[in-house]
Parts: sequence; C-alpha cells; structure tokens
Amino acid sequence: MNYSGILDQIHRDLKPWLGKGRVASYIPELANISAERFGMAIVRTTGEVFRTGEADTRFSIQSISKLFACTLAFQLLGDDLWQRVGREPSGTAFNSLVQLEAEQGKPRNPFINAGALVVTDVLCRRFVKAETALVEFIRRLSGERGIGYDAAVAQSELQHAHRNRAMAHFMASFGNLKMPPDLVVDAYTRQCAISMSSVELARAALFLANRGAVPSTGEQIVDASSAKRLSALMLTCGTYDAAGDFVYRVGLPAKSGVGGGIVAVLPGEMAVCVWSPGLDANGNSLAGTLALEWLTTFTGQSIF
Ligand code: GLU
Repeated sequence: MNYSGILDQIHRDLKPWLGKGRVASYIPELANISAERFGMAIVRTTGEVFRTGEADTRFSIQSISKLFACTLAFQLLGDDLWQRVGREPSGTAFNSLVQLEAEQGKPRNPFINAGALVVTDVLCRRFVKAETALVEFIRRLSGERGIGYDAAVAQSELQHAHRNRAMAHFMASFGNLKMPPDLVVDAYTRQCAISMSSVELARAALFLANRGAVPSTGEQIVDASSAKRLSALMLTCGTYDAAGDFVYRVGLPAKSGVGGGIVAVLPGEMAVCVWSPGLDANGNSLAGTLALEWLTTFTGQSIF
C-alpha cells in the first residue's frame, strides 16, 4: 500500500476545504489558531510512519485525552467502571446536562464531558495529581518524553468552565463524584490541554490496533479483549453526536477533540491522526473527517 502517495493526494485534494469550518472559540486560547492548518500521520504496527503537512506540530488534544484517561481508569477498575458511567451513545451534545437528571447523575459514556469527569474522578482518587499521571501514561504509550500540557490553554478554559463545573457539582449531588468537584474539573481541564502532534497521537493510540500492546516496547497496556471494548466505545461514542454519520463515512473507531484532532485505529494495521482546527457543526474537524473518509476510500481499508 502506497500510504505516502495516498497522504499526499489527500493533502492536495483537501486544499479547497482547509480554512472551512469554525475554530472552537469558547476556549479563547484555541480561537487564535488558524483554521487553515493541517497535518496527518499514519503509524503502522510495524513501526513505519507516514506523514503529510504539519504532522509534527503539536496542538491541543482536548477530548482525545478522554480516550487515554478512560483507558487508564479501565486498567484500574475493569468492568466496575461501568457502574458509574454507561456505554451508550448519548444523542446529545458533548457538554449537555439534560440526561444527567433523568439518569440520576450517571453519564451515558466516558467520551462526553460528564462521563470524562467521572473518569477523571477515578484518576483523582488513585493518583495525587491525575493530570500528571495521565501525561506520564501518554508518554509511555507514545514513547515521547517531551509531552506535557499547555498551561495557557488550561487557564483559558478554566476561566470559562462554568458548564463543566455545573456538571461536576450536579453529579456530586448524586454521589457519583467521590473527590471535590472543583479539583476534578481542574484536573480534567489540564488533561484536555495536553499538546501532542499527529505523529505522537497516532503512536499513543497504536496499542488499540495491536491487541492492547505497544508495538515498539511490547508493553501490554490492556488485554486484547479490553482493546476491543475501548475501540468499540470509540466507534459508537467517539465523535460527538455525529458518531453514526462519522462511522458511515469513515468506517473506523475514532476519537475527536475540539482542538481539531481526530485519532482513529485500524486493528492489526495502523493508527492514524489528522489535525485541522476548523470544526463542523458537531465539533468534529471538517477537513479531518474528509481526510479520513478519503483514506479509507482510497485504500479500501476499514473495519468493515
Ligand atoms: N475541554 C473541552 C471541554 O470540556 C473538551 C471538549 C472537546 O474536545 O470535546 O469543553
């Protein structure tokens, strides 16, 4: 498979689309980034790396952090995690509060904000500094020691985190948050502000394409069955309220973030990450979704 040629073709064909879509502006620090930027990387389980555009430029991973946080919490609690957070698509926006009251403070899944706050609560109970533990975990997954979080992005979001604070306090009122809600929101916001490049993100997600083990080190992060379960969650819940449309078009389990990144896995073969900050109405990268759709179309490879 000529991945290099295919990535270059995708980059060329995408030119008219770059700059379309809207950069997330509710986190002021993210509003400063041009919607025209683009990078994409494929990392194969064999270790080969293919890149196009700004594949080595770091960006704010935002909700993609929910994938790694959920993996760490699942590693700690196993199936007990599902007593506190569900595994169903929510059919509502990522930051919606509406279901929480009817469902007694149990969020639908770990990839909406409420669910991610519960996951972070699990990490806050286990680690003195949850965000530091998560950064360490991601460094191990990706093999990149230099990864960290961007304090300016975290600070910028914390000043406007009213909705996440409301959600955290609301869930605490149902007993579904064990640690102080504001501490959990602080840790959650910092984990969202982790900066990584497309290459680093694809490397970090590669264990999911490799039956739970990091190919370069052999470290078994989760067993093969758990890798299957986490990938299934990405497929059904990983791309906001558009997961159905996304999987129809792309055919891969994926997790997106409002920083414009999307990471996806093709089991047995590769992890791929694309970054383009212009978002569609659902909060997924507009050009990024197209790039992944073309990748699976041009290669004829998807999970189906
Ligand atoms: N930090 C963002 C928030 O909580 C993450 C949103 C996202 O990427 O979906 O609003």
